[in-house]
Amino acid sequence: MAIRVAVIGAGAAGLCAVRHLASRPSTFSVTAFEQGEKVGGTWVYTEKTGTDAHGLPIHSSMYKNLKTNLPKEVMAFPDFPFDRNLPSFVKHSEVLEYLEQYASHFNLLQHIKFQTQVVKVEPVASEESKTKTGLGEKWEVTTAPATDRDCCVTEEYDAVIICNGHYSVPLIPKLPGLDTFQGQIMHSHNYRHPEAFKDKTVLCLGAASSGQDISIDLSSTAKMVYLCHNRDPIQSPLPPNLQQKSGIRSINGSTITLLDGEEVTADWILFCTGYHFTFPFLDDKCHVHIDTDERITPLYKHLIHTEFPSMSFIGICKTICPFPQFHVQVLLALGVLDGTVQLPSKEEMDADTEADLQKRLAEGLPRRYAHTMGNRQWAYNDEIASLAGIPQIPRAVQNLYDAIHLNRVKDLVNYKKNNYMLLDEENFVRLDN
Ligand code: FAD
Repeated sequence: MAIRVAVIGAGAAGLCAVRHLASRPSTFSVTAFEQGEKVGGTWVYTEKTGTDAHGLPIHSSMYKNLKTNLPKEVMAFPDFPFDRNLPSFVKHSEVLEYLEQYASHFNLLQHIKFQTQVVKVEPVASEESKTKTGLGEKWEVTTAPATDRDCCVTEEYDAVIICNGHYSVPLIPKLPGLDTFQGQIMHSHNYRHPEAFKDKTVLCLGAASSGQDISIDLSSTAKMVYLCHNRDPIQSPLPPNLQQKSGIRSINGSTITLLDGEEVTADWILFCTGYHFTFPFLDDKCHVHIDTDERITPLYKHLIHTEFPSMSFIGICKTICPFPQFHVQVLLALGVLDGTVQLPSKEEMDADTEADLQKRLAEGLPRRYAHTMGNRQWAYNDEIASLAGIPQIPRAVQNLYDAIHLNRVKDLVNYKKNNYMLLDEENFVRLDN
């Protein structure tokens, strides 16, 4: 009998899981649950903020003018390229179309229950599941229609793959005096377009991808944008009304005191300070812990629950090239379920996870970087691919990703104007525009 797998979420990660599960019907049967009306997750742009028509929190964090910060040549799943006629840096709507095409090409929609929210997942010890997966537990998955959340249904599965995304629940730092601020505040999750900030002074706090991109978008209409952060200064030329400043120390009414002692005023503070991980549907019996530094335990390779290996999490890592990483992670998770991958003991897996954290701390990274990859992602992806016994992500993807990173550092405003093509496993070429 097939191993019954529940997939939670039908964004890029969930679609990737469904694609590979559904391609092996004699081994797996798959049901994916998606609380929204369509596939695509965060790429389903909406003008709305707050809650949707059914009272569920808006999931997407897309803004109107967003173009990808990675070229489509590296963003793509390894087995499904983007339309080659598109430019390298595509609009959010074109990424959504790509994901819709992926779902339709691999016939995935039949496996997805839309407008169905997973409200509870709990493990139940089971001999039956043990014989199917060798992993020893069954899962009760309770879902509710988005349209009537009192109407719950509970079904049993042998495995659960969690793909609920982690760019939806805003993380706003506790700043002394924030409650006294006389201007307005917003988190980047709710940012949609720059017109709302016309002629205003906006302080963007945080200069990771969103902070950089949104502050440039804002500079098209705002009077002044202060990009406040604690990183090394951005070296690229910036618009004249976009100034870098240090992070916020405290706020007192209309005065914002920065870490270097400077005082500024602003009409808005826009928090580009990231997001919380959240798995509100996981019962305490799932033994998944998110600590105050946003570190999730107990996960082997940021992916497999070490106590319950029939539960996996796709897409936990940050600062990555997401879709290719989802691909290798999904295939490792499936290998664990079908028994082709033999995991080390729980103690060995937990020791590996701890060693990974200690290595980061020894390099001077704060604990909150426990799942952050950056340059580590390529060795990690290779390791996951090797454990799964599948081909590595072509080196050309890394080479182009690294080249784009350098271009972004040099010219943050214009780096998306160039187009690229992958030539072979190793090489890419920049095309004349
Ligand atoms: P999501 O896309 O968030 O999908 C999760 C899905 O799970 C959603 O559809 C949600 O409705 C569903 N869900 C959640 N909880 C439940 C539940 N309880 N029951 C049922 N369904 C549930 N990546 C790039 O590669 N290039 C970029 O340029 C890029 N730019 C980005 C810009 C922004 C502003 C953001 C926020 C992200 C960007 N990313 C980019 C990263 C992006 O998040 C990933 O590419 C990827 O889309 C994440 O997919 P996911 O499936 O993990 O999560």
